[in-house]
Amino acid sequence: RPGQRWTMRIAELSGSENIIFLSDRSAIDAADRMRSDFVANASHELRTPLAAILGYVETLQEMNGETDAPTRDRFLSIIEREARRMQQLVIDLLSISRVEADRFRRPTATVDLAMIVRTAIGQLSDSEPARAKDLVAKLGDGAQPMLGDEAQLSQLAHNIISNAMKYGHAGTPVTVELIREGSRVRLSVSDQGDGIAPDHLPRLTERFYRVDEARSRSVGGTGLGLAIVKHIGERHQGQLDIDSQVGRGTRVSVTFPLLSEG
Ligand code: ADP
Repeated sequence: RPGQRWTMRIAELSGSENIIFLSDRSAIDAADRMRSDFVANASHELRTPLAAILGYVETLQEMNGETDAPTRDRFLSIIEREARRMQQLVIDLLSISRVEADRFRRPTATVDLAMIVRTAIGQLSDSEPARAKDLVAKLGDGAQPMLGDEAQLSQLAHNIISNAMKYGHAGTPVTVELIREGSRVRLSVSDQGDGIAPDHLPRLTERFYRVDEARSRSVGGTGLGLAIVKHIGERHQGQLDIDSQVGRGTRVSVTFPLLSEG
């Protein structure tokens, strides 16, 4: 194929016999390219808030104490916001690399998805009090036992629910449901927001992919949330589905196999 590259290695078996190893380099090249794109994107994402922080610090220094209090406070709050953005980005970058490192390790602990989702809702209600009253939880009474990594599943629930809270319109409900489907359980999160046009849907789980970059930044997004969800879902044999209607809202769900009883 055009562009395909091969690596050849020859090993001598005996004086008259050789073995030739041929390996297709294209897959390795593609993985290398993805890795370097990722590093370039991550550096760019970190550089933007860093430049803002340095700019405002230098301005404050140049003004040498001559700034009035409201201006100084405004600069300090921008510095704080940008530093928090960097902090969240570093947290998300660490998460994605940890989740990827765990990719082939099947979880072995028995966890209760209902309890994990309930806890995530509680934490988000505390951290986003303005939106807490709009959260509608339909989790049922029973436990939903599955094999899982508790910290990762709680991050998955957190990322999906917080997206619905961020991108759903203020004052409209965010519904979090656990729906039993035979031997599986579906975690479904619906919002009433702008929705997502169909051509964006396949790319949402790519790292740093955002439909509206300015909107994502203004709500504190890093562009890594759904990439993390995808990896955690895969590690738990979960099926991720995103359904959306422009102007109406979005439903993101992940369906996991439950631990078979007995
Ligand atoms: P971000 O940190 O930007 O929210 P995510 O990876 O979580 O990144 O999501 C990627 C993009 O998908 C977002 O920037 C946003 O454009 C879109 N998105 C995710 N969830 C929703 C939702 N519930 N409604 C509308 N758009 C969404």
